[in-house]
Amino acid sequence: MSDTEAELRQAIVSAARHMERSGHSPGTSGNVSTRHGDGFFITPTGLPPADLTAADVVVLDLEGNAGAGQRAPSSEWPMHAALYAARPKAGAVVHCHSRFATILACAHRSIPSLHYMVAATGGFDVPCAPYATFGTRALSDRVLETIGHRNGCLLANHGQIALGKDLSAAVRTAEEIERLAETHWGALAIGGPVLLTDEEMKDVVERFLGGYGQPG
Ligand code: 13P
Ligand code: ZN
Repeated sequence: MSDTEAELRQAIVSAARHMERSGHSPGTSGNVSTRHGDGFFITPTGLPPADLTAADVVVLDLEGNAGAGQRAPSSEWPMHAALYAARPKAGAVVHCHSRFATILACAHRSIPSLHYMVAATGGFDVPCAPYATFGTRALSDRVLETIGHRNGCLLANHGQIALGKDLSAAVRTAEEIERLAETHWGALAIGGPVLLTDEEMKDVVERFLGGYGQPG
């Protein structure tokens, strides 16, 4: 196993544990993957993150073929594979059942432009993909149709999915979506949010592109 491969496997274990400990992926819900060559590494199905070791991480090609002797991959591998195929810059994908994203998804609510940080998820809203059974091609098709150029979306009656250039970026986006979902839930409870206009959102995007944060 190359150093990079060992590092990627360990990074998947750490991200899966982080998602479980932070309450975003209760039990064995959720899954995490990183692109690797022509395929990707992904968490195995149905294993509690606390029991996960680097050797349990499964390597698949984009058609879902695995080498012999591996754990069974996450049931959601088709959704991860579809995003890697459609989004060449995606280096990692995180799916979770975080509390507030799931509450909105169960009400088939998307997250509108109620806060400027919606722009950090790559669009002016975080839409909700229509329901399909977990682990199916139908679900990955609906996610692809819904997510468009964005870095994440909600999954009706299920949870959310986020992508990024690497695992920390994908986890950051999933956590941002969760914060925005909580904010939307709260704003709905006090009469509904006042939305930013497209012009105001465009200004935010320009400001981000102009280099928010430390140089370099
Ligand atoms: P896996 O354990 O197969 O990854 O499934 C968890 C899940 O969240 C299904 O949507
Ligand atoms: Zn799920």
